[in-house]
Amino acid sequence: MVKKPIYSFILLFLSVSAAAPQQPPADAAAVSHFQQYLRINTAHPHPDYQSAVSFLKALATSIPNLRTRTLHLTTPNKPLLLVTFPGSNPSLQSILFNSHLDSVPAEPSKWFHPPFSAFKTHDGSIFARGAQDDKCIAIQYLEAIRNIIATDPGFKPMRTIHICYVPDEEIGGLDGMAKFVESNEFREMNVGFFLDEGQASTNDKYRVFYADRSPWNLVIKAEGQPGHGSRMFDNSALENLMKSVEVVSKFRENQFDLVKAGVLANSEVISANPVYLKAGIVSGDGNFVMNMQPSEAEAGYDVRLPPTVDPDLLKKRIAEEWAPATRNMSYHIVEKGPLRDYMGRPLMTVTNDSNPWWTVFKHAVEAVGGRLSKPEILASTTDARYMRVRGIPTLGFSPMKNTPILLHDHNEFLKESVFLEGIKVYESIIKALSSFDTDSP
Ligand SMILES: [Zn+2]
Repeated sequence: MVKKPIYSFILLFLSVSAAAPQQPPADAAAVSHFQQYLRINTAHPHPDYQSAVSFLKALATSIPNLRTRTLHLTTPNKPLLLVTFPGSNPSLQSILFNSHLDSVPAEPSKWFHPPFSAFKTHDGSIFARGAQDDKCIAIQYLEAIRNIIATDPGFKPMRTIHICYVPDEEIGGLDGMAKFVESNEFREMNVGFFLDEGQASTNDKYRVFYADRSPWNLVIKAEGQPGHGSRMFDNSALENLMKSVEVVSKFRENQFDLVKAGVLANSEVISANPVYLKAGIVSGDGNFVMNMQPSEAEAGYDVRLPPTVDPDLLKKRIAEEWAPATRNMSYHIVEKGPLRDYMGRPLMTVTNDSNPWWTVFKHAVEAVGGRLSKPEILASTTDARYMRVRGIPTLGFSPMKNTPILLHDHNEFLKESVFLEGIKVYESIIKALSSFDTDSP
């Protein structure tokens, strides 16, 4: 009799263990699909697009009513997968969700777990290159549709829903999204609203992006009278370039001060970061000649412009202050992306109630308890610009909250709980957007 309480305790312990909360099978399957996709190495320079597309195609075809098409817009080794959930009213504009297939490389020696192992720790963190950027959304879109149909087998969207899986986003998208938007397939889709990748948020609000910054490669050149290293004279190439470097540095400092003071976000200012300096005369032994002032000098800058600034004003500033012809200076700008859409409007998507897509999107996130932080401009560039240039309302959104921002970083990971919550968010978004029946403004 003395032992009975202990025996009962053991029985109780066993029954509690057996009743420990278990992941529902649908969630476990979704996490497993995420891990399987992460194990396909689509990192540059040799992304395995074929395996990625085969996997996603099989996953999509395991969901009732989804159709798939594989497009080859450039070479056979750069496929683009299109998944379609046909709507009941094809005259309405469709919704397009995007995820890029590729990822940036990873240095395995710097990772806690191999970057293509999708290793899951005891606390549910899944480590892999692409876990945040952006293989999570690739799987979440599909699992959200799977869940919607599982809950309501008769569900049919009013608007057609498309998902595209594009190659080469990380290297500029020229053989990916840039080609796709030129295709007949894209034209026929009649896209009204585009949802692209976003970034993780370190607090409990989701981040949403309404614009990208546009990159310029700026090269400033100075020419001047060469001369002996001992001579003092005005307007040598290096003297002029150094004056210019000072002026640009001052501008950069003023922009950065606005960020530091909290007046503007990093992505709302013009950044002008020096990336190279080239000057000097190299002698036969590979060393610089030390007693000659060179006749040419050059500086390179990575300049990023938010769509809120006037590019012509910046060009005027460059011509007048950064590289004035009066000091024998010249400049060259390579604009790496458009700044205006086809109507000449800044490349931004309106995030207020005058844009009905925004209102529907925001309410859909809130309907499942999600909160959005103040819409932001993305500091870098994504495929979204190819849509905005066509005037298509476009938001960048990856539902990852309370998550460190690890895109392109070592030890990129995403918690499975965050991943699963994201699926619920997309279920709400997909249902809301696809049943929104007013045509776009
Ligand atoms: Zn990305």
